[in-house]
Amino acid sequence: MSTDTTRAPFARERLFCPGPTPVPAIARMAAMNESVYHRSETFTTLIQASRKLLGELIGCRIPPVILTCSGTGAMESAVINFTAPGSQTLVVNGGNFGERWLQLNQAYNCNVHSLDIPWGSAPNPQQIVDKLQTLPECSAFFIQANETSTGVYYPIKEIASAVRSTNKKILIVVDCISSLVAHEMRMDDWDIDVVVGGSQKGFGVPPGLAFVAISDRARNQFSNRPRFYFDLKREEAGQSKGDTAWTPAVTLVQALNASMQYLKQIGFSKLNEHHAKGAKAVREAGQAIGLDLFANGNYSNALTAFRLPSEAKGLVKTLDARFGAIFAGGQGQLSGQIFRFSHLGFVDQLDIIGGIGAVELGLFQATGRDVLGKGVAAASRIFAT
Ligand SMILES: *Cc1c(COP(=O)(O)O)cnc(C)c1O
Repeated sequence: MSTDTTRAPFARERLFCPGPTPVPAIARMAAMNESVYHRSETFTTLIQASRKLLGELIGCRIPPVILTCSGTGAMESAVINFTAPGSQTLVVNGGNFGERWLQLNQAYNCNVHSLDIPWGSAPNPQQIVDKLQTLPECSAFFIQANETSTGVYYPIKEIASAVRSTNKKILIVVDCISSLVAHEMRMDDWDIDVVVGGSQKGFGVPPGLAFVAISDRARNQFSNRPRFYFDLKREEAGQSKGDTAWTPAVTLVQALNASMQYLKQIGFSKLNEHHAKGAKAVREAGQAIGLDLFANGNYSNALTAFRLPSEAKGLVKTLDARFGAIFAGGQGQLSGQIFRFSHLGFVDQLDIIGGIGAVELGLFQATGRDVLGKGVAAASRIFAT
């Protein structure tokens, strides 16, 4: 609970930002256990169980490795392990996180090309195919599943299939950090080579763990770049026996295991449906109170971006200061233009109704618009069916 008495009495901080997301009591309590020794059988069993469930969620034959770092560290590990200096690569850049792939490829001296698309839209598979046909030596393709800066979900299954039919050897690397749990991922079936995830997004675990799943195609072409902490080959060989190369964040693995067991019990496809419904409720609510969606289609199940009305530029600040409701503003070129409402991870239907109620109050105060109750009614109608 927040003890900030300048807020409305008893205001509790509630996270409506796309990471970190709310951490459920089961995960918090698991992380409060004594730290187990990472070379003990207890820990080996724990990390193997978590990896196995992550593998089921991602749809890959060999479970992902778990790294102790933020999501960007896992993205960096993919660039280090699967490209060489001068490698021709292609990045889809439709937002802040596409830009991050570009920067990482540049930092590691790849011969990187960028397919720039307008922020708020998704690339269409043909566009990518056309670009790839101009890059016959392209060895790796980097994309997001969910571009968190714009609230757009890219049609990854269709994109992967189009890319693969153009280039049989290319490595398809997908940043699924904000899509896992909210959107389906069938890595092997969709012939994707590297999937990257992070603990603080869909998993209800604090920041600090990241996941990298590796296909057989990728496993057969580790680069010979110098590397040490992020040596995925060594890490995977060790973790196949439950051994991590370095001391992992054991308490976070304890939390992850608790969350994953629970998510598995709910059922992964049911979780995708839950997120789709929450996203729809938020879109309908926003529209009912006169907010414009930022994305032009391909809406994410994980978060929704709305344009900030010109009279309500301070909305994010007000909702935090008054109610402890933490929404996210825009990143980069969208700073001051949009706000982002996350419904990713352990967010229930009443959380969403509460979040919408907060947005209504903030908008009412800023603009005097007659919005109170209208968004909540629209969202409730979605949840009632
Ligand atoms: C959150 C996020 C990341 C990783 O960010 P970190 O702050 O390094 O954990 C990367 N890609 C996407 C799409 C994200 O949403």
